[in-house]
Amino acid sequence: MILSIESSCDDSAIAITEIETKKLLFHKKISQELEHSIYGGVVPELAARLHAEALPKILEQVEPYFEQLKAVAVTSTPGLAVTLVEGVTMAKAISIALNIPLIAVNHLVGHIYSLFIEKEAEFPLTVLLVSGGHTQVMQVKSLHNIETVAKSMDDSFGESFDKVAKMMNLGYPGGPIIEQMAKDGDRTRYNFTIPLSQSPLIAFSYSGLKNAVRVALESAGEDDYKDIAASFEHIATMHIVQKLKKYFKTTSPKTFAIVGGASANLYLRDEIKKLLKPHNAKLLLSEFKYCSDNAAMIGRVALEMYEKKMFTPLEKLSTSAKSSI
Ligand code: ATP
Ligand code: FE
Repeated sequence: MILSIESSCDDSAIAITEIETKKLLFHKKISQELEHSIYGGVVPELAARLHAEALPKILEQVEPYFEQLKAVAVTSTPGLAVTLVEGVTMAKAISIALNIPLIAVNHLVGHIYSLFIEKEAEFPLTVLLVSGGHTQVMQVKSLHNIETVAKSMDDSFGESFDKVAKMMNLGYPGGPIIEQMAKDGDRTRYNFTIPLSQSPLIAFSYSGLKNAVRVALESAGEDDYKDIAASFEHIATMHIVQKLKKYFKTTSPKTFAIVGGASANLYLRDEIKKLLKPHNAKLLLSEFKYCSDNAAMIGRVALEMYEKKMFTPLEKLSTSAKSSI
């Protein structure tokens, strides 16, 4: 079995995955959403302290598995430096205490493998990652062959939902709150501009849209919030749809996947389904519970890495906030 740990942002999670069967035997996550909610976003120092409390609590529950562990895996990059180190330190301690190898997992690869929990992986894939820190399109041929073909030049899709909710004083995370509000809103009432629509670049940008929402809110009352939420969600989604449409002109997808916390958004899912129809492409999605950060996806990547003996020596394992695959 492999024990896996995730602490890259505001979720403390541990999983146990069986090597032979790829079965997920245990998964527990303690989210810090409530604690960060009053600040309208994640406060790194607070997050680190909460991981230091939560991770040992979950670890106690997996003690019965200790004797059967063959490796310990942990998210090492990208993420918040002060929170990554909480998981990495715990993983190193387990590795020493049980004399088992360490596996350093890239969090973004984790999001890709959230599609394949308790399943065989299928490639090649065109993947849209929409999360709190990333909005990017990747061509994935295998675990080792991942090419980023488009990414955000500034903020991410998920983060823009968080900021819009913060501007409306609605709490954190903003994604589910804004999605819920948008359901009763008029998507056409606020005529926000689709970012980069005149640009030939296949890239994303959310800072201008966020600013447009801020300006709209200056002269809006609470009665207008649902229309602003709906118009914002519409344009944020159309931006992705427009750029994918452009990309698909040269690279028609056979199998397309949406991963990351914001892949739970039903409006985005529906619009992408429509976009894929003429291409006859298959759409893969993670189960809702594995869209946002979790340790099951880290364990799933670790299975692949264990098979290939991709271990990291203790002294070489460091964390990195840098975003790369
Ligand atoms: P990264 O994976 O890039 O390092 P992260 O781990 O912080 O960032 P995730 O946990 O994958 O991000 O996703 C969290 C983000 O997803 C938050 O910004 C949240 O608002 C957004 N999100 C969650 N649900 C929805 C939704 N229904 N609609 C839009 N955004 C959503
Ligand atoms: Fe994430």
